[in-house]
Amino acid sequence: MGTIVVSREFKRRSGLGLILSGTWALLSGLWLTLKRMIYNLWHRKDSTTVEYPSQKVKRSSRFRGVHVLTKKADGEIRCTACMLCATACPAECIRIVASENENPDLEKSPSTYEIDSLRCVFCGFCEEACPVDAIRMTPEYETSNVSASNFIWDINFLMNRPSLKGGVTSRCPEDRPHHQRVRKGLTAELPPKN
Ligand code: SF4
Ligand code: SF4
Repeated sequence: MGTIVVSREFKRRSGLGLILSGTWALLSGLWLTLKRMIYNLWHRKDSTTVEYPSQKVKRSSRFRGVHVLTKKADGEIRCTACMLCATACPAECIRIVASENENPDLEKSPSTYEIDSLRCVFCGFCEEACPVDAIRMTPEYETSNVSASNFIWDINFLMNRPSLKGGVTSRCPEDRPHHQRVRKGLTAELPPKN
């Protein structure tokens, strides 16, 4: 194995040279800032800066924000506690406790469903993994809060927070549990009934 020795003489500026080069760098930076400020004052329409929060940027339809747990037509939770989302989650931030339904014809459902949003990386894997459109990601992104405990989103927050205005209905029919993958904006053809 050969070795290449690279030598470079390091010239340290001193005295007046150091002061002049530092002043020049400082003034160049200030000039650039001033130039942009004057330009933006006269071309406000071209500016990409928005006055948040009074002004908001329109999000892409594929934006992945705060989750929602969807409902059945009767208002019950659509989730069947199959754990696929929790298994797919790379941040391991979904906690589900499943409970059996009293009616043996109905699937089980979660008695607890929590997402630790401080660990969530908003990757969307949970939404992708869900076979019944029971979890979706919304365009909501304003999640600031003052208490760490409020960043654990429970079933009530995920289903019934005020911004959902009564909740979101699942696109997956209830009589075809786990038969069909339903993706955002697309209801694929269903298999024939047996
Ligand atoms: S968005 Fe990703 S990290 Fe967040 S809960 Fe879903 S799978 Fe987990
Ligand atoms: S994958 Fe869907 S149905 Fe299964 S536990 Fe998660 S949200 Fe519920």
